[in-house]
Amino acid sequence: MTSVGITSDVSQAAAILLKGGIVGMPTETVYGLAALARNEKAVHRVFDTKGRPRNHPLIVHLAPDSDLHRWGILDETAMKLANAFWPGPLTLLVPRTSLVPDWVTGGRDTVALRIPSHPVAQNFLTAVNDGVVAPSANRFGKVSPTTAQHVLDDLGDSVDVILDGGPCNVGVESTIVECTTTFQLLRPGAISENEVALATGRIPTSISGPSRAPGMLESHYAPDAKVLLVDSLQEAEVVRQTIDSTNSVFILHFENVSEYAEHLYDSLRAADQQKVAIVIAVRPQPNGIGLAIIDRLAKAAATR
Ligand code: AMP
Ligand code: MG
Repeated sequence: MTSVGITSDVSQAAAILLKGGIVGMPTETVYGLAALARNEKAVHRVFDTKGRPRNHPLIVHLAPDSDLHRWGILDETAMKLANAFWPGPLTLLVPRTSLVPDWVTGGRDTVALRIPSHPVAQNFLTAVNDGVVAPSANRFGKVSPTTAQHVLDDLGDSVDVILDGGPCNVGVESTIVECTTTFQLLRPGAISENEVALATGRIPTSISGPSRAPGMLESHYAPDAKVLLVDSLQEAEVVRQTIDSTNSVFILHFENVSEYAEHLYDSLRAADQQKVAIVIAVRPQPNGIGLAIIDRLAKAAATR
């Protein structure tokens, strides 16, 4: 299959996917690298293109109005979350059905499901009418893409086509909540722990210590630049003074926390493009989506 670059033609992208191709797909969180979940060869191409270990399980994306019960067993808590936040930036980890192949879950007995809210993603998933895996469309461990151009920059010709849906407006990966015998927040995102508790009447176990979710590595989302973390702009200035002037420095900070999430990854990419040596990132307040930003910044700053 020859590369056809970036398109806004949903039917063309869906046809390529249905033939076993891999497609850059917009969502409200980040761009995904899509393949038909039930096509083993296509899913393996996704792992190989990203350089992602094959035992890191993938999220299955579904169109609105899909029959969820074909894919997973959603208990009362999971249904409350699905009703409250789908379509949207929330992934539910639930027991899987026999429809879900081992190559998607790494052989686990659970499956991660999400119905995204991005209108182009919804049209695409509706046209495909089947489960679609879509891990972030970047090389493993690197900064996630939030525009079609980022996908092209990272994966270029290894993708069959990139469906353009404009810049992602959430900007960080989905919140993951496990609804099995354990009720736990596995990854912070735009949907906060508080919102999860309010919608379910239950308080999920918080993330503490090393994550139990496979693939949640300490170093991830990492730009080429070294990332230093501080808690205020003043502190950023103090740290800047200590840095040798031969190093170019970029201070990453947004007053508005939603804007911070939206532009987190493109700012890190811009720093790399400008060959910045050190990014001093100001951590936002630790609540709501601020926690997701702090989580991603910590991984971008971790020793590699
Ligand atoms: P992403 O990297 O955004 O594609 O999200 C995938 C992450 O979701 C994985 O790295 C896991 O942490 C989690 N996940 C997905 N499927 C499963 C599963 N079946 N069991 C446990 N965790 C899962
Ligand atoms: Mg990723």
